[in-house]
Amino acid sequence: MRAWAVVENGKPLQEMEWPTPEPKGTEVLLEVTHCGVCHSDLHIWDGYYDIGGGKKMSLTDRGVKLPLAMGHEIVGRVVKLGPDASGVKPGDLRIVYPWLGCGECDACRSDNDNMCTVVPRSLGVYANGGYGTHVIAPHPRHLVDPGNIDPTVAATYACSGITVYSAIKKAMPMAPDEAIVLVGAGGLGLNAIAILKAMGHRNIIAVDISAEKREAALKAGASKAVDGSGEGVTKRIMEAAGGPVLAAIDLVNGTTTARFAFDALRKGGKLIQVGLFGGELTVALPLMAIRALTVRGSYVGSVTDLRELVDLAQKGKLEALPVATVPQNQANDALMRLKDGKVTGRLVLKAEAA
Ligand SMILES: [Zn+2]
Ligand SMILES: [Zn+2]
Repeated sequence: MRAWAVVENGKPLQEMEWPTPEPKGTEVLLEVTHCGVCHSDLHIWDGYYDIGGGKKMSLTDRGVKLPLAMGHEIVGRVVKLGPDASGVKPGDLRIVYPWLGCGECDACRSDNDNMCTVVPRSLGVYANGGYGTHVIAPHPRHLVDPGNIDPTVAATYACSGITVYSAIKKAMPMAPDEAIVLVGAGGLGLNAIAILKAMGHRNIIAVDISAEKREAALKAGASKAVDGSGEGVTKRIMEAAGGPVLAAIDLVNGTTTARFAFDALRKGGKLIQVGLFGGELTVALPLMAIRALTVRGSYVGSVTDLRELVDLAQKGKLEALPVATVPQNQANDALMRLKDGKVTGRLVLKAEAA
């Protein structure tokens, strides 16, 4: 097999020839047809996350080993099954759920692999992912049939799609006309609007500092767009919503956005934190109790979330995000385009034969 791998952090990806892995036990070998290029690949490539206050969280300290084929938004065709694998057959096209854990703890066995605390084995992070011609899925239950969905779009459901879907589920249930606030109208924000609409939600308030992004949010179906810059953002959100709100999803999650979103909550309100911008939030503890508030983090999603999202898309309710394909062997160029901020929508690597 060939891979376009990180050999040294921050240096160009290198094309590598590796022996094609042989599936053991329940493993399934797939030939990668599509792989999305995600913003978090840039952090993995850099080798660290910025955790604020000038501090960095090193990924090698957390068990990331090089060389590594990144890529966690994978669609591939089944090539070969391990002796204990069943449920798929060679030729089947599948989305590969990448957020893997040990595979054996209660979290993993209940399809909450992303909540595993034993061993992280996420594809494209701790194990080789989709920036290669082949990938190993540890178990057939991590493979989801994209059905009639364009595989280029289906690939993006494995990360950006379920990240947003899982956060929305944490804010639900809500009546369709109850205001839900989305902070950040970039890629994830537009995705969130599409998913909320597909779920039948009608009252969506998008907040962004960019006029262009607010315009895009309205076009995508947001009911109202609020300027997130300067003073008085909480007041503007409440004006748009007709009062304090029941739920806000913060896709930015920085000191400023967390503050105005939290302050806009009403009794029983929830703030769901998704973004990794960084910073801190101070809360008045008696208010948390008296107003029965929830502040909850949300990280990627489960394989169940992926199945549900694919189901929603198969019903034709989910508007596809803008995607552009790049030949697989130009993975490094694609990554650099993303780094330079020259990408609208999502870049997806595509195999020659796909
Ligand atoms: Zn991602
Ligand atoms: Zn586990």
